[in-house]
Amino acid sequence: MTDEVYPVPREWAEKAFVDADRYAAMYRESVEDPEGFWRREARRIDWIKPFTKVKEASFHEEDFGIKWFSDGTLNLSANCLDRHLDERGDVTAIIWEPDSPDTAGRTISYRELHRMVCRFANALKEQGVTRGDRVTIYLPMVPEAAVAMLACARIGAIHSVVFGGFSPEALEGRIKDCDSRIVVTADEGLRGGKTVPLKANVDTALLACPAVDRVIVLRHSGSAVAMQKGRDLWWDEAVAAVPDDCLPEEMGAEDPLFILYTSGSTGKPKGVLHTTGGYAVWASMTHQYVFDYRPGQIYWCSADVGWVTGHTYIVYAPLANGATQVMFEGVPNWPDPSRIWQVVDKHQVEILYTAPTVIRALEREGDQWVQATSRKSLRLLGTVGEPINPDAWGWYHDVVGEGRCPIVDTWWQTETGAAMITPMPGAIDMKPGSACRPMFGVKPELVDEHGQFLRGAASGALVITDSWPGQMRTVWGDHARFFETYFTTHRGYYFTGDGCRRDEDGYYWITGRIDDVINVSGHRIGTAEVESSLVSHAKVAEAAVVGYPHDIKGTAIYAFVTLNAGEDGSEELRQELVKEVRHDIGGLAAPEVIYFTPALPKTRSGKIMRRILRKIAEGDVSNLGDTSTLADPAVVDQLVANRPVIE
Ligand code: ATP
Ligand code: MG
Repeated sequence: MTDEVYPVPREWAEKAFVDADRYAAMYRESVEDPEGFWRREARRIDWIKPFTKVKEASFHEEDFGIKWFSDGTLNLSANCLDRHLDERGDVTAIIWEPDSPDTAGRTISYRELHRMVCRFANALKEQGVTRGDRVTIYLPMVPEAAVAMLACARIGAIHSVVFGGFSPEALEGRIKDCDSRIVVTADEGLRGGKTVPLKANVDTALLACPAVDRVIVLRHSGSAVAMQKGRDLWWDEAVAAVPDDCLPEEMGAEDPLFILYTSGSTGKPKGVLHTTGGYAVWASMTHQYVFDYRPGQIYWCSADVGWVTGHTYIVYAPLANGATQVMFEGVPNWPDPSRIWQVVDKHQVEILYTAPTVIRALEREGDQWVQATSRKSLRLLGTVGEPINPDAWGWYHDVVGEGRCPIVDTWWQTETGAAMITPMPGAIDMKPGSACRPMFGVKPELVDEHGQFLRGAASGALVITDSWPGQMRTVWGDHARFFETYFTTHRGYYFTGDGCRRDEDGYYWITGRIDDVINVSGHRIGTAEVESSLVSHAKVAEAAVVGYPHDIKGTAIYAFVTLNAGEDGSEELRQELVKEVRHDIGGLAAPEVIYFTPALPKTRSGKIMRRILRKIAEGDVSNLGDTSTLADPAVVDQLVANRPVIE
């Protein structure tokens, strides 16, 4: 649809770790000689006992298994903390920016962070937590969230972080699924000027979780909360009498590091298990090359630690790489839609990593909110979570970055641990809306319905044909589900669930979830392209399309459209939008129905939930499936109540 190309800026080609030639050479080596490539890259991690084995992986049923660096040992918390102390101990690790701009922030050096982690690790030990135990973490975006995760990694406990916006029911399900007997939480969270009753939610969840016998509660908002005698313990009391140092456990490379549940866009969330050694190498390497990160630069990933993006690109990768980063408690548009850019200016952020949902929401409010700030410190922008519509990409690039900053559009999943398909700013010319080229060691292929590989420019299901170090190792407690979900759709390959197009330059374009592909009169149409065409209209903020049964076409396209602030949906606009899609893609893709709505149903991580929209379009609203990960259920009620009648 768009063939615009933004070449690598000259200064990036000259200065970046990876330029075009190096990308080509390193990529070739990574797939032709993975042993040699990863043996070298793995040196970025400090091993206690060096590994001799590199990759032992098969995606086939007979000898199915995935192991990396399996005879090596390490501790990831020591890699994120201890090894920086001699040279960089006083460097700032975390600049914490609170929800309200009127509250004082905090800066925490590597030395201070090390001390906090050791103390909390000792507190966990004192509560009887040992290697392999599961610790559920339900905290707001405060430094203690990273501290709790790193403390688990230090003593070999497995953390399961549950996003602080989840309900008691969602929390209960995740506590039970991984059998954890300890929960770490706070009195309350603060987001967008509102309080989130974290401790009260834990109390509700625990009514149905008798196995939990300890709750550690961080004082954050300072509000009074009920403390259950014998079970609940304040964080400050838990760490009051413990030593400042805690020896890191020697962990095997394949020992579990964490469990994290997927976002639930396509159904019931899966408990994804990641292990230690391969994940550490994979996280650190991608962070260095994708963001071209050098110590000293101010980096900000605006995700929540409750998502995989926060695990990898707030906690493990930047800290392993000795980064200085902003951690933000609040939301990008509160107290006003300028906040995110004010934080950029305040902390002189150079690298900003956010999501399409944030970009579209801020674009909707108008350019004046951006232009009221300087943003001169920004050098590189990143995005993750959904396909970014070329229009939103253009706004991010031109208005936010003033044409100066390359954009890294990183495609990956909870399951993949870190970025899989992405440009690197010094190496790969960018195309708006495309995640561009594979990361080192990633072998993507497109397959058709018959499981045949497609060659050259083509469209199909995205699979990865070989293992990479940061791949998930199992679904917690259900290894059969792991194999079944990811390795049986196309035997012998990792199935991503995403549809994808590869263009004549070998660039990858995610076209949406395979299950969301719409078949109109025998033609397969991806959701992303139709949505991008709609979003390119000046009045449209966001769009989601789904198929619904149609007498003649078999399936026709139903579009849910939200408009920019101050715009109204008229018949004239409807016709303009249909015309635009006809022009951009073709008559087949033209929506039969356009439903103007003030909001779209999203997961709590900000992804549009098309499976619910499909039900609404089909008129099948009695059973909407798993809605536990929905951010705002009221949006769905409104959509159902106001839906247009289809003749
Ligand atoms: P569930 O697996 O429970 O349905 P989910 O897939 O939304 O939830 P995540 O692991 O958070 O859970 O999201 C991964 C998905 O997000 C990818 O499979 C892809 O569809 C989408 N995605 C992430 N980044 C990008 C990107 N840069 N471009 C296009 N799509 C992306
Ligand atoms: Mg998924």
